[in-house]
Amino acid sequence: MKGLVKVGRGVGLVELREVPTPTLAPGEVLIRVKAAGICGSDIHIFHDQFPYHPPVILGHEFAGEIAALGSQVQGWTKGDRVVAELHTRACGRCRYCRTGSQHLCPEKRAPGWGIDGAFAEYIVMPSQLLHVIPAGVSFPEAALAEPTAIAVQAVLGKGRVQPGDLVVVLGPGPIGLLCAQIARSCGGKVVITGTERDRDTRLAVAGQLGIDHVVDTSLADPLLLIQDLSGGAGADVVVETAGVAATINQAIQMVRPQGLILAVGIPEGEKIAVDWSRAVFKGADVRFCFSSTFPDWERSLAMLATGQIAVKPMINGLFNLEDWAQAFALITSGKGIKALLIPNP
Ligand SMILES: [Zn+2]
Ligand SMILES: [Zn+2]
Repeated sequence: MKGLVKVGRGVGLVELREVPTPTLAPGEVLIRVKAAGICGSDIHIFHDQFPYHPPVILGHEFAGEIAALGSQVQGWTKGDRVVAELHTRACGRCRYCRTGSQHLCPEKRAPGWGIDGAFAEYIVMPSQLLHVIPAGVSFPEAALAEPTAIAVQAVLGKGRVQPGDLVVVLGPGPIGLLCAQIARSCGGKVVITGTERDRDTRLAVAGQLGIDHVVDTSLADPLLLIQDLSGGAGADVVVETAGVAATINQAIQMVRPQGLILAVGIPEGEKIAVDWSRAVFKGADVRFCFSSTFPDWERSLAMLATGQIAVKPMINGLFNLEDWAQAFALITSGKGIKALLIPNP
């Protein structure tokens, strides 16, 4: 089969190669990949800025149909439409595995960097990590179940958005657009911010998605808007998805006393200078959000099925595996939101 392989350590070194179709161990299923999303971490692996174990097939956001069943697989049949959690190689014995938090298992090696991923015609997954794609949700939409589950964990799992809350989402990337939609579905009044480079696509899509206030920070001061909207009090919840010093400090400035900051964005490398004392004086809660768990996936798929979360406007292009470089370039340019590879057109 064809697979997009990071062949060694260094910048670039990504090639579409003919690789053996994987074989199945007991409990595993072979999934024919129908759509796979390009994530920021795939771009980081391309640029050698994220951990990986080469040679490895990239890609972890995917949807597909079961093509074959290994021995001892129960409850699944060929042709089932599925997505899968990424906790492969979790040990099953540690504190985190035994308390439903396999995403924190120190032995976890997820597809797309730790083991072979989804930018290929087929991927193997343990059957206990699968979820059914609800009827009415297409493969391209279901390929966004993974980032959606991350946003669900942040806003609904770690977060507490109540009707009428003023919620600010800093950063209009895929996770930001998903968090904004979830906050709105909880009855929040939602502000999303981005920069000049986000104006034409990401902020435009935020507007199409019906987010209440879409702010280009090169044209308007979001702090003044939050002051206005809250009568000077500040935001009830701030979701930080950009992971840069400017927005992390904005989160602390914007949140109201005793408000909640949800930390989702991951800063690249550098240590961040944070106005910690201001956060202390506000008595703010800060919750760090990482990865996703079983209930996040079930909620995410339910919200995709009911239309509470719309992902179609976030998909800018479908590409054959052969055209992977174009798809990577679209995401790297910041002009795309989510590009999908379609390995079995
Ligand atoms: Zn991802
Ligand atoms: Zn474990």
